[in-house]
Amino acid sequence: MRTSEIAKRYLDYFGKHDHLIVPSASLISPNPTTLFTIAGMVPFIPYLMGEQTPPKHRMASNQKCVRTLDIDEVGKTTRHGTFFQMLGNFSFGDYFKEEAIHYAWELLTTPQDQGGYGFDPEKLWMTTFTDDEEARSMWKNEGVDPEHIQIMGMEDNFWTTGGPGPGGPCSEIYVDRGPEYGVEGGPIADENRYIEIWDLVFENYEVDNVKSKTDLHIVGELEHKNIDTGAGLERLAYLMQGKQNIYETDEVFPVIEAAERLSGRKYGEDEKADVKFRVVADHVRSALMIMSDGVRPSNVGRGYVLRRLLRRTIQAMRVLGVTDPVIPKLLPVSKDAMVASYPELETTFHDVSEAAYGEEDAFRRTLDNGIQILDVAVANAKKTADPTVSGDDAFTLHDTYGFPIELTLEMAADQGVKVDEAKFRELMAEQKSRARADALKKRHNVDLSVYDDFKKTLAKPIDFLGYTEYSARGT
Ligand code: ATP
Repeated sequence: MRTSEIAKRYLDYFGKHDHLIVPSASLISPNPTTLFTIAGMVPFIPYLMGEQTPPKHRMASNQKCVRTLDIDEVGKTTRHGTFFQMLGNFSFGDYFKEEAIHYAWELLTTPQDQGGYGFDPEKLWMTTFTDDEEARSMWKNEGVDPEHIQIMGMEDNFWTTGGPGPGGPCSEIYVDRGPEYGVEGGPIADENRYIEIWDLVFENYEVDNVKSKTDLHIVGELEHKNIDTGAGLERLAYLMQGKQNIYETDEVFPVIEAAERLSGRKYGEDEKADVKFRVVADHVRSALMIMSDGVRPSNVGRGYVLRRLLRRTIQAMRVLGVTDPVIPKLLPVSKDAMVASYPELETTFHDVSEAAYGEEDAFRRTLDNGIQILDVAVANAKKTADPTVSGDDAFTLHDTYGFPIELTLEMAADQGVKVDEAKFRELMAEQKSRARADALKKRHNVDLSVYDDFKKTLAKPIDFLGYTEYSARGT
C-alpha cells in the first residue's frame, strides 16, 4: 500500500467517526520556541490548552513535521527521518481513553480489504503508564494479549507541556518485526525489533511545579479531558510495505535509486555506504519540503538547518564518489515522489530549485579547498596519541570554507578523528563579540557624524516654540 493511501485511510477512518479533517499546517512552527512543527499536535495547541474554541471537538490531520533532534539517528536506525508525516486524531473535551484505544486498535487490525491496515494482532504490543490500570484493562477488552501490554514509568509514558497546564499518561503502540531483528521481550527489551508506530496521549490532569518529568505535582483532574495522538506515517509505510526502514518506502526510495545511478554504486552492498544513501534520501526530501514552505538557506535559525541538510547531502554524495553537482539531479526526483501528496510542490518548485542549486554552487566553490585543509588537519592529527583536529582548523573551515561545525565533526569522525569543539566554540564566541563591538563602533561614528553635520548647519540656537505654537493652533 502506497504511503499516500495509508494516510488517506487514516483520514477516511476518522472522518467516518465524525472528525473534522484539516490539511497540514506549515512546517514553520507558529510556536516561537521551536523552529519547525515537530508534532501533529502543534497546530492544535490553542485548542488543547483551552485558549481557543476548536471548529469541531473531534479533528484529525496528516501533519508535516521536521525534527532536527533526530538528525544523528538518520540512516542509522530504521525509523528516524528529519522530515516525516504524523497522522493524528484529537478530541478536545469530547471522547476519551476508551474510544481512542478502540479507534487505534480497530484501524490497525481491520483487514486491508475492509479499509484497515491489516496488522496481525499477535504482532502488536502496547506500553502503558505505571498507574494507568484503566488503559491496560481497555486494551485487554479490545482483545490484546495481556503479555503484550507492558508498563513504563513517568519518563517514557507521561506527557506534559513542560510547564503548568494539561498533562497525562500515554500509551504507545509497537509492531514486532520478528526474531531476526532482535531479542524477545517487547519494546522494553528491544526498540529496534519492536517499532513504535503510534502514541496515544490521554490528557486528563492539570499539573504544575513541573521540575522534570519525574518531579511534578498533579493538581487534579481536568474538567475537559483531551486526546492527542500521533502515528508515524513513514513507520506504518515501511512495516506495511515489507521494507527494512523508512528510507525504502515509496516516497523516499526513488532518491536512493537516483543516487545509485549517479554514483554507479549499489544500495545494499555496504552498510557504511548505505547510511550515506539513506542520509541523502532523507535530507533531500527535508530540504525540499522546508524550502517549499518558504525557508531559504542562511546562517541562522531555520535557514541554517536547511543549509546543513543541503551541505550534508553534497558531502554524503562525495563519500559515495560523486563530485559533480548533485542537487539538480536529486531534488526533482524527490519532488516527483512527493507531489501526489503535496500538489503545491508543482508551483513552488521553480523557486525552490533555483535557490537550492545556487546554494550548492556556492558551497562547491569552497568545498574542494576546505576538504584539502581538513585532510591535512586529519593527517596531522592521526600522527598524535589522541587524534584531534584543532579548534583553529575547525574555525577556519567554518569561517572561510562554509563548513558547518557538524560537517567537520562528521567528516573527521568518518576517519576516526575527534575535533576540539570547545576551542571552536570559544573562537566563534570571540568572533561574535568582535563583530558586535565593530557594529557598535560603526553606529557610534555614523551617529556622531550625522549630528556634526547637523550642528554645522545651525547658525544660532533653537528656541523651543512647541507649547505656544501648539496652543495657538489648538484654540
Ligand atoms: P522514538 O522514541 O521512536 O524516536 P518518539 O517517542 O520521539 O519516537 P513521538 O514523539 O511519540 O515519537 O511521536 C509520535 C509518532 O511519530 C511516533 O510513534 C512515531 O511513529 C513517529 N515519529 C516520531 N519521530 C519520528 C521521526 N524522527 N521519524 C519518523 N517518524 C517519527
